[in-house]
Amino acid sequence: MAPPQHPVTGNNAMARLKTVIHVHTHYSYDSDRSPEDLVHDARCAGVDCAAVTDHDEIAGALVARELGGVQIIVGEEITSADGHIIGLFLHERVPPGLSAEETAHRIRDQGGLVLAPHPFTILCDHSLGPRALARLRPWLDAVEVCNAQDFLPWENTRARRFAAEHQVTPYVGDDSHMRGYLAACYQMVPAFDGPVEFRAALRQAVLVSGRQPLGYFATMAVRQAWRRIARRPLRDRGGSAPAIRARAITDGKGSPAQAD
Ligand SMILES: [Zn+2]
Ligand SMILES: [Zn+2]
Repeated sequence: MAPPQHPVTGNNAMARLKTVIHVHTHYSYDSDRSPEDLVHDARCAGVDCAAVTDHDEIAGALVARELGGVQIIVGEEITSADGHIIGLFLHERVPPGLSAEETAHRIRDQGGLVLAPHPFTILCDHSLGPRALARLRPWLDAVEVCNAQDFLPWENTRARRFAAEHQVTPYVGDDSHMRGYLAACYQMVPAFDGPVEFRAALRQAVLVSGRQPLGYFATMAVRQAWRRIARRPLRDRGGSAPAIRARAITDGKGSPAQAD
């Protein structure tokens, strides 16, 4: 006879997946981590599922999904005209620059979920803010109530309050950009298959908040400083034009100073 299952330690609990939401690969302009490194980091951190959300791109997530070994949700952190919006379970890239509402429409049209990363964050130029969030509320499936890159606690408090007042499912966002750093924030989520089940599973998730370690911020600061130097005009720092163009290509597609 099979032993009785305890409601906490039984099959249900064992089926929960350690899930990181909002992580980047080098298909983002501000990340140095290949999809292969992401899968490696995930396995080292005991992560079962990763929602890969590169800036305005889904190609890195598709590559990571093909590698196997970790369940990958194909997502994108879209730079809408009103701020960053995450789409999950995407099949096609959503272009940046659209309004929050149009961005949400494009996500929903392909069966995806709409998430609001790092709302209210003042150090990031690309947060949605209260007005845009209010407009986006009818489309919102989840809101990020802790971002592991955010070190101002009242911003997370404000996000938690928004989630509670507007009855939006909360999640925690890892937002890691660098090789070797993953799962400062994660959630334990019941097993799921597809966006509808994931949305339901997220409502039952156990959220584990955290912050990236100091070494992460120090390395990011050095990288951002280097990017600024690389963008300075040629006459200001010497060197040949082809070398600088090569560096710019290596550096990525965009150039905002704040990693987000
Ligand atoms: Zn962002
Ligand atoms: Zn991000």
